[in-house]
Amino acid sequence: AISVDHATKVFGRRPKEAAKRLRAGASREEVKPFGTAAVIDASFDVRVGEIFVVMGLSGSGKSTLIRLLNGLGDTTDGSISVFGHEIVGMSAAELRKVRREQMAMVFQHFALFPHRTVLENAAYGLEIQGVPVEERGERARGWLSRVGLDGWADSLPGELSGGMQQRVGLARAFAAGTRILLMDEAFSALDPLIRREMQELLVELQQELGMTIVFITHDLNEAMFLGDRIAVMRDGRIVQLGTPNDILTDPANDYVAQFVQDVD
Ligand code: ADP
Ligand code: MG
Repeated sequence: AISVDHATKVFGRRPKEAAKRLRAGASREEVKPFGTAAVIDASFDVRVGEIFVVMGLSGSGKSTLIRLLNGLGDTTDGSISVFGHEIVGMSAAELRKVRREQMAMVFQHFALFPHRTVLENAAYGLEIQGVPVEERGERARGWLSRVGLDGWADSLPGELSGGMQQRVGLARAFAAGTRILLMDEAFSALDPLIRREMQELLVELQQELGMTIVFITHDLNEAMFLGDRIAVMRDGRIVQLGTPNDILTDPANDYVAQFVQDVD
């Protein structure tokens, strides 16, 4: 679904120079005079219909990586292809089209429009696709029902709990009908019980639709529960990529071993 080849992202004054040196083996510290390396030489494929989890400590580059997959923030070097569309170097207009047709995003803090109703929020993806108002209302209503929000269509997001707001976020993403879902710490702000409910709901919908999901988390248990495969990031690099079982039973290094010590 997504193919990432030597993608590198550097923030700062001379990112291209930094990327070149990183590729040649320089460390993050060594390229500091040129810029801050957030993602370094990441190469992987996300398979159609899998939940691909990116796990790692805060600052390891997860958010930067998922933003690159979404065509945000200008990849410094390398290539990223989404269902055959090379998005690195694409024009803003082309990128908007690929995003609209292929990818929906779910955010940690929901990113709902506070002055729009729950229904209007859920219908947003369809709105930007130009679906007529009645049809999108009907389709969004169906999705609100699927995520357990019957009866809330006319409320404003502020009247809902955090968990319910994220259900709206899910309805909006699924209603858009894209093949890829990008989720950055989408459940991290929720209480543990609600969080588990949301994980179960996500898996149920994902399996039903055969959707491809890239899911970021710093939570090991969440990664183990959701992931078909897990990429572990450290200091901007993917240090291991494997099934939850691979990661648990055969950690690639001490860092991963530390990480998996406290799985429930
Ligand atoms: P994570 O999501 O894993 O916490 P991020 O992708 O947010 O990590 O950040 C990875 C690294 O990139 C961090 O060291 C961070 O300081 C740096 N970084 C992120 N965004 C910027 C930016 N806009 N400018 C400079 N450095 C940034
Ligand atoms: Mg982050």
